Amino acid sequence: MSKLVDNFGRQISYVRLAVTDRCNLRCQYCMPAQGIDIVPRKELLTYKEMYRIIRVLTELGVNKVRLTGGEPFARKDFMSFLEMLSYNDLLDAINITTNGALVSKHIQTLEKLKKIKNINLSIDSLHADKFAKITRRDVFPEVYKTFELLEKSSLNLKLNVVVQSGFNTNEINDFVALTKNKNIAVRFIEEMPFNGKGQRDTEENWSYTKILDEIKSKYDVKTVLSEKSSTSRNFSIENHQGTVGIIPAFTRTICNDCNRIRITSTGTFKNCLF
Ligand code: SAM
Ligand code: SF4
Repeated sequence: MSKLVDNFGRQISYVRLAVTDRCNLRCQYCMPAQGIDIVPRKELLTYKEMYRIIRVLTELGVNKVRLTGGEPFARKDFMSFLEMLSYNDLLDAINITTNGALVSKHIQTLEKLKKIKNINLSIDSLHADKFAKITRRDVFPEVYKTFELLEKSSLNLKLNVVVQSGFNTNEINDFVALTKNKNIAVRFIEEMPFNGKGQRDTEENWSYTKILDEIKSKYDVKTVLSEKSSTSRNFSIENHQGTVGIIPAFTRTICNDCNRIRITSTGTFKNCLF
């Protein structure tokens, strides 16, 4: 069967599927405090439809899926969907991006589902009060508990840290310090001006270069060769078990090697987040 290749010759092998538009948090860079206008439940793809779409895409050469949202674990029966998706023999990996607030009780089951390889946990501050300001919910202890459990689990753990001017830039090197004794990847994400409501006035532009300079002010970093399609540029630090990465989400220096297609919770295909 033919493969999915776009007009720029990029072969699509990775699909990112939003299993819901709902979320239990209200991160200031992502959603307004009162939440978004959610789509009526009947317009959301059903799990059966999602399974079918992913099956067709895998027959066209996709071999990895990332499940995201909204918050994937906020959708009822998400764990059963993971089990169902694991039956797709053409899929090599099921990865999940989560805010971690509803995950801790599922970790043992996640470990048993062999196609689940990578969990990206979003955590923008290591301080409960600041975390609550950013997410507008008081769930830091639960998210931190998830972090500790995932770190001890057999799953590969990546932390996603959105760098927010005036909020967490003074914590960048605290996050880097976590990689000393933990085999995790900490990835800093450039904040994208996406919330559309002008809620955040940013004083400084924390671009890829500025984030890297901040890390270099404390650590000697070495570039790590990553997969061509990686969304992050990655670095190692001597005597650190984990690695550090920066995702140029806004300055977009990664588009050339993009191998992704995105599907929204209502089934719209997007070949680019922009
Ligand atoms: N709710 C899950 C979570 O937070 O991990 C999954 C969905 S969330 C949209 C996926 C990732 O996008 C998270 O790491 C989040 O921090 C990041 N994100 C959301 N809005 C962003 C923005 N305006 N700029 C940069 N990253 C953003
Ligand atoms: Fe929810 Fe994730 Fe958006 Fe935060 S970034 S509001 S956790 S969807």
